[in-house]
Amino acid sequence: MKIIDGKETAQQIKNEIADEVAAMLNSREQGPHLVAVLVGEDPASQTYVRNKEKACAQVGIISSVYKYPESISEKELLEVVDFINNDDEIDGLIVQLPLPKHISEKKIIEKINPAKDVDGFHPLNVGRMALNLPTYLPATPYGILQLIERYNIETEGKSCVVLGRSHIVGSPISILLSRKAYPGNCTVTVCHSRTKNLKQIAKSADILIVAMGQPQFVTEDMVKKDAVVIDVGIHRVPSDKTKSGFRLVGDVLFDEVSKKAGYITPVPGGVGPMTIVSLLMNTLKAAKKEIYF
Ligand code: NDP
Repeated sequence: MKIIDGKETAQQIKNEIADEVAAMLNSREQGPHLVAVLVGEDPASQTYVRNKEKACAQVGIISSVYKYPESISEKELLEVVDFINNDDEIDGLIVQLPLPKHISEKKIIEKINPAKDVDGFHPLNVGRMALNLPTYLPATPYGILQLIERYNIETEGKSCVVLGRSHIVGSPISILLSRKAYPGNCTVTVCHSRTKNLKQIAKSADILIVAMGQPQFVTEDMVKKDAVVIDVGIHRVPSDKTKSGFRLVGDVLFDEVSKKAGYITPVPGGVGPMTIVSLLMNTLKAAKKEIYF
């Protein structure tokens, strides 16, 4: 069994990005510039945005956070997005989700200039992804592709089972791995809450991607010997072995499954660190005008 080390891979990619940003400064006055729009006081959203700022600083990407109170109207937020869309000094824009209930996330996302949509959530970018055209890939699936690629994991002709069909993970990774590309060329099956025989289907997978949001759901009996297991889930569960009284676990029962898998991502230190790095990669692409020029 081989551990897929997301922390180490993320650090490698950060070093590469830092080098590219430094090289860019020979021809540009400033590094890439990412703006995060944060609405309200949700502690989880505040932490995510802070972590994104920290990661940007590590590689020389400029980041700004535009903060607005929970009471901002949808119209005002649309105007904010429009303003950022038209600011030539800003390369990438993310709107931290979830938004307050009185604001339509769909409307806000559709307002983002696709050329600055470094989260890859705009329908135009999702369509480009499905058509295998250059685009900003959504962060978590992009991170998974990077791990597969950097660990030279063969994907062609493999049977891939994705557990979960969310718009941010399950659905895009299933599209990406079925594309005529590397990583890709898999035969993909997507499972969800209405799937019958999920355990049996999971066990047929050469590559099993788990994004269900169910702590330690996948047990050893659901996994084929030597399968590649990618665990996207992340949960804080009580523990008497840590000072904080909590520990992090994934959607996979790591201790059991790791004995049977060929490759496996741990939690923490697997997919998680790759998600933020993907945002950095997309912001660099935006600054280099690689996708839209
Ligand atoms: P969602 O809750 O949006 O989607 C979960 C999916 O799993 C749904 O498609 C749902 O089916 C399916 N599902 C849930 N329970 C079952 C079940 N018992 N049997 C079959 N299918 C089931 O989750 P996300 O995709 O947003 O996230 C998944 C996990 O990954 C979470 O733990 C989240 O915290 C984590 N995550 C981690 C990231 C990282 O960077 N490491 C980034 C993003 C997410 P249905 O559609 O039918 O309801």
